[in-house]
Amino acid sequence: MAGGGIGGAAAALALARAGFAVRLFEARPDPAEAGAGLQIAANGVKALRWLGLEDAVAPFATRPERLELRLPGSGRTVSRVALGAAHAGRYGAPYFHLHRADLHRALFEAARSHPAVSIELGRRVTRAVQTAGEVSIELDNGDTAEGRALIGADGVRSALREGVAGIDAPVFTGMTAWRAVVPATDADLARPPVATVWMGRGRHLVTYPLATRREINLIGVVEEKPATDESWLAAGAPADMAADFGGWHAETDALLQRVTAPWRWPLYERHPLSVWSAGRVAQRGDACHAMPPFLAQGACMALEDAVVLARRMAARPGDVAHALRDYSEARRERTMKVQRASWANAWRFHLAHPVLRTCVYGGLAAISALVPSGPGRMYDWLYRYDPATA
Ligand SMILES: Cc1cc2nc3c(=O)[nH]c(=O)nc-3n(C[C@H](O)[C@H](O)[C@H](O)COP(=O)(O)OP(=O)(O)OC[C@H]3O[C@@H](n4cnc5c(N)ncnc54)[C@H](O)[C@@H]3O)c2cc1C
Repeated sequence: MAGGGIGGAAAALALARAGFAVRLFEARPDPAEAGAGLQIAANGVKALRWLGLEDAVAPFATRPERLELRLPGSGRTVSRVALGAAHAGRYGAPYFHLHRADLHRALFEAARSHPAVSIELGRRVTRAVQTAGEVSIELDNGDTAEGRALIGADGVRSALREGVAGIDAPVFTGMTAWRAVVPATDADLARPPVATVWMGRGRHLVTYPLATRREINLIGVVEEKPATDESWLAAGAPADMAADFGGWHAETDALLQRVTAPWRWPLYERHPLSVWSAGRVAQRGDACHAMPPFLAQGACMALEDAVVLARRMAARPGDVAHALRDYSEARRERTMKVQRASWANAWRFHLAHPVLRTCVYGGLAAISALVPSGPGRMYDWLYRYDPATA
């Protein structure tokens, strides 16, 4: 396994639980995740359940009551999606807000403590060569290692993807994300936990509580060109974030005033692959299907990938290449659909033309009023999925 992020740690654990011995190489000496929140919906929680981690993660999770789509200025709520008990009852698992560090630590520590997993930190996989019976890899310190398969979990900037897909590069989405976590006040924590999407023109701001840490997570997405191609993750200035989203509403201004150390993150994606494996090498997670975060599903897809990969490998233990192809077949259509649905949300959240805004948001408000469960049901196909049976 190359890469020990959320996806790589989950896949290492899943494969170990399916009976395989795993060596995981992670390029960073300390793989801890940076500070920010993640929404993990029922489909992702079902993957955690299969991994035996739902109960370990639950104490760190906030369970939002609902998602609201609101308009800057008036603050009008145009649509509500019930989460909480409604989501858990309909889809068989809860909806969690988690700090990335809490989720990653749970996955990484469970993988590290599994007797079938060995983890080597500060080791970058630089090359993979396949022979008839095995894959040989080279590491950046000159060492080599051999195994029956190589799983590339090396993120959106994956170098190993080339061996499966030929030369291609991450694609800039034309959008930059601001990320910040601010302290929650007692008043914030006294309110029911709600995830809110504030829909501006060519931009949107998402806020949600991480109540167990007494924090509020903010993600602001702006349509723009990145400053430089190299600026994958850069410290930003609070004043610049406020310039992008300030003056929208008293609630958002109160949060922006508390931002001290935001990050700017140009959003890249990967074009869908027609095949995810070549012989004994396969891709997964962002390395395979990095998508814009407008449906909050990138990590959920990486968790699903992990479970389906392990189950397909276990179904054909003696035939790695076919097992990896089965996995690719099982996952490709779904992740492409999720990628498209993420883009549809970008359109919905960023409408600029006043007439379009009136028509679309008026329509959404009418649907919400007439059929309160309607907006949520739109995603039945997404949340009903269970990687343990798919
Ligand atoms: C602003 C934003 C908000 C998001 N919100 C959500 C959300 O609410 N819900 C959700 O489900 N998803 C969300 N996502 C998506 C989610 O963060 C990603 O999909 C997920 O983290 C991908 O995990 P990964 O393990 O595939 O990749 P990464 O997390 O990128 O991990 C890749 C790992 O591989 C290592 N590596 C790289 N190259 C090598 C190599 N050659 N050898 C060894 N190691 C290597 C890296 O050091 C890294 O640790 C969001 C994303 C963004 C940008």
